[in-house]
Amino acid sequence: MNATAADSCAPAPAARYRGRFAPSPTGPLHFGSLVAALASYCDARAAGGQWLLRIEDVDEPRSRPGAETQILAGLERYGFEWDGPVYRQSERTRLYAEALAQLQGAASVYACGCTRRELESAPFGVGGERVYPGTCSAVPATQGRGGPHAWRVRVGDAVVTSHDRLQGAQQQDMARDVGDFVVKRADGLFAYQLAVVVDDAEQGITDVVRGADLLASTPRQLLLQRLLGLPTPAYLHVPVAINTTGEKLSKQTLAPPLPAAPLRALLAAWRFLDQLPLPDPHPSVAEFWTWARASWRASRLPPVVMLPAPGDMYAHCAPVHKPGVPT
Ligand code: GLU
Repeated sequence: MNATAADSCAPAPAARYRGRFAPSPTGPLHFGSLVAALASYCDARAAGGQWLLRIEDVDEPRSRPGAETQILAGLERYGFEWDGPVYRQSERTRLYAEALAQLQGAASVYACGCTRRELESAPFGVGGERVYPGTCSAVPATQGRGGPHAWRVRVGDAVVTSHDRLQGAQQQDMARDVGDFVVKRADGLFAYQLAVVVDDAEQGITDVVRGADLLASTPRQLLLQRLLGLPTPAYLHVPVAINTTGEKLSKQTLAPPLPAAPLRALLAAWRFLDQLPLPDPHPSVAEFWTWARASWRASRLPPVVMLPAPGDMYAHCAPVHKPGVPT
């Protein structure tokens, strides 16, 4: 089975472009999040389109109290303007349950009672998760499952091909690279892969612009769109900002929060995305935004999956000192 995304390098026509930024509230915004926000915002505004904000708090245990407020305040302080209300995944579980019921009705998913321990010997796939060996796929649905169980999508022999506006042609052999993947977890929470597909479709998103760390997830999302009969947006995955040890800037790698004064970080993110330099090297924040909206060129983006972040956007963070390990 092949799923093919719209084979176009260009964004959606101006009148219907709808983009979004979808941070998970696991901590304050850092330089890596700013890069994704800036790219998705400028791509939408340069196309005369809308830019929606969605808080991806579907993974409740990972969400941190106060992080959403910090993120919204940070975006506002930096001068981002979103259209319409802020969406929250935690308020949309009914939609995810309906999508799961649709998949269950078509026998596209099955219940899986495997524990993490039982999957320890499975190899890792492209997204860094274990490739499910299919243990529960042959258990007849009528047999039922006592105890906690997840729901997994049958990937069958799907080879998903797509075209990324920046990264070009993509192909993933689902059985080999990912395996049957979880759409509802054993703890009862819906998985990101299902939630994001339902939300993007329900919010009418035409263009997804996000970090290339999610490139390996996109085929799962395309497959779900196909199974659920939902449209496929255009995708553009921008380079991920990494530190000197090659790790993605994140809460886990102790990426520091964005500085309170926006200009230095905005200019650094703009340069990171290789956009046209501003005529005045010392602009105001308002001048930066006027320039950014008017001169954004997706065609200038570096076609790579990762790039070193500028040192001053993470180096002021103290290194982790492990006891007993010489520094
Ligand atoms: N919530 C994801 C993150 O914060 C982004 C998901 C997406 O853009 O599809 O990394």
